[in-house]
Amino acid sequence: MEITNNHGVPETLVSLARRDYYSKGKADYSVTELLSPPRVQRLRKLYNAEMKQDVSQMLWQLMGSALHVVAERGQAEGHITEERLFTTMNGVTVSGAIDIQRDDADGITISDYKFTSAWAVMNEKPEWEQQQNIYAWLVRREKKRDVKAVQIIALIRDWNRREAERREDYPKAPIQVINLRLWSQEETEQFVRGRIAAHNTGKLAIAFDEELPLCTDEDRWVRETKFAVMKQGRKRALKLFDNEDEAKKFAEQEKGYVETRNGEAIRCTGDYCGVSQWCSQYRQANAAGDEEGGVRPEERQE
Ligand code: SF4
Repeated sequence: MEITNNHGVPETLVSLARRDYYSKGKADYSVTELLSPPRVQRLRKLYNAEMKQDVSQMLWQLMGSALHVVAERGQAEGHITEERLFTTMNGVTVSGAIDIQRDDADGITISDYKFTSAWAVMNEKPEWEQQQNIYAWLVRREKKRDVKAVQIIALIRDWNRREAERREDYPKAPIQVINLRLWSQEETEQFVRGRIAAHNTGKLAIAFDEELPLCTDEDRWVRETKFAVMKQGRKRALKLFDNEDEAKKFAEQEKGYVETRNGEAIRCTGDYCGVSQWCSQYRQANAAGDEEGGVRPEERQE
């Protein structure tokens, strides 16, 4: 992928963007690759030479890289930072770089930094739990040590003090430690096997010139259709509903009207996968009119 610099960003940031902090080493899959949809992974490999990203659009990736550098400097006793572990299962090598391992006598606590939104912290992020548990699986396999906890250190980039005072469910500070459910080794191993099999299917599809496995709604970050209760003279919805009948009732009460906001596959429409221009699934969904509409940006919760 070519990193462009269309806005005269200083070269130091450009070279930071070009350095590959997430190199998987000599592995078949990194944990990040295993967790990403096989279709996205295959298309990225196929079109890597044609992919472009401007450095000015990489703010949060750059901040992530900067944090890795800072984390390495901030060594504390008993903490292992930025360690990459490798393991091989049925001939397939998987690697993962763990941000922090706190090594106590009764086991290791695994933590990972994430620059994220308040919305993400307030909602379930299954991929966080999956990623941290694969790291735990790597640690148990390769270090023969117990893992006692897996957690995310969320650095909330849009944290707002007012919201924290007003809302019960809002994170109370801009840095939040989130403890995740710790899976058993067997459960994780089964999950990893499933992911490897899904990616092998993608590889075979390319080899035999067949259609790649489709991205699921979850992979495509599909937002369901919403029903917005609007009022004359207001730009924003009074309230968003999942159910049209409930929206109509509320609109009657408020003397407003209902606007339908069609569902949207955010990862595709926003090209967050980076390969939407080469994706036949996205083209077909577009042709069928599935990717239009959606919740207005100002009404999105993240
Ligand atoms: S455009 Fe959508 S369907 Fe296609 S690879 Fe990207 S996320 Fe998957």
